[in-house]
Amino acid sequence: AKVAGKNCHRFYSRAMDQAVERRVHLEHELRGAWDRGELSLAYQPVFRVSDGVMVGAEALLRWMHPTQGLIAPSVFIDVAEQCGLIETLGPQVLRAACFDAVAWHRSRGGDPLFVSVNVSPRQLRHGDLPEVVADCLRDSGLTAQCLHLELTETAVIGDETHASALLSKLRETGVKVWLDDFGTGFSGLSHLRRVPVDGVKIDRSFIADILRDPDDLALTTAIIALAHSQGITVVAEGVEKEGQYELLRERDCDLAQGYWLGHPVPMAEFQALLCPA
Ligand code: C2E
Ligand code: CA
Ligand code: CA
Ligand code: CA
Repeated sequence: AKVAGKNCHRFYSRAMDQAVERRVHLEHELRGAWDRGELSLAYQPVFRVSDGVMVGAEALLRWMHPTQGLIAPSVFIDVAEQCGLIETLGPQVLRAACFDAVAWHRSRGGDPLFVSVNVSPRQLRHGDLPEVVADCLRDSGLTAQCLHLELTETAVIGDETHASALLSKLRETGVKVWLDDFGTGFSGLSHLRRVPVDGVKIDRSFIADILRDPDDLALTTAIIALAHSQGITVVAEGVEKEGQYELLRERDCDLAQGYWLGHPVPMAEFQALLCPA
């Protein structure tokens, strides 16, 4: 194919080279980003649907690149996953989130808020996650029940025996395990019976259409019913309209997050939200 290469082939490989080069460059910059203080966590509040009380927040990573500005996690998490950097970045995020959650409780008192942290499939496969979690809890002093780990369906698909054993081990420590982006995987509903989790987060692509698309509403309602029949909590993500929230309350959804309820904000701003001056 190399010898027979025509112009289009050369063009194709040049575009490829550039993409690879950009990626390698990004990867290189990402390696030192945490130590340079370019990475930070934003927190998006999570609410109990029945009474609208804030009960926790999801930690979302942000990269303020010195020249390119804010880079979305959808771009750099992928890079971090592929080059293995997520195996050091993941635990750093976990640790920072635990310390932040303890600070919230100090400044607010009352019922402690939970902090929900995204865990990549790679951390599940390669890192010693239960040990990392135990270290973070011990060093920060955060109550285990206040830490939620969000795993995607794809992280547990394929190796369910290993995943189930690991999840059980994690849950024994008291932390809660959530299945993120629920409904987007192919084996969604059947998984609930085989993988031990505390909750599911219905993907926002379903929530987006529940007011218009009867199929999406039916699926959402079915997920809630099935989850509740197994004692599993349901979070709806991507709630952007009051109507969606009302509908979710009608359908007995437990928790919700989304732009209508609150955007992800930097730690300082989130903390200010907890104790308004
Ligand atoms: P996710 O876990 O599904 O996180 C929810 C995403 O939806 C966030 O995007 C959040 O800002 C966005 N969102 C929240 N409410 C709404 C809404 O009402 N409408 C819409 N359209 N979007 C909403 P974000 O922060 O860009 O993160 C994207 C993804 O990057 C996350 O998806 C997660 O998979 C990944 N990610 C972020 N932080 C971390 C991290 O610390 N570790 C790992 N492994 N992955 C992370
Ligand atoms: Ca998530
Ligand atoms: Ca999600
Ligand atoms: Ca639809």
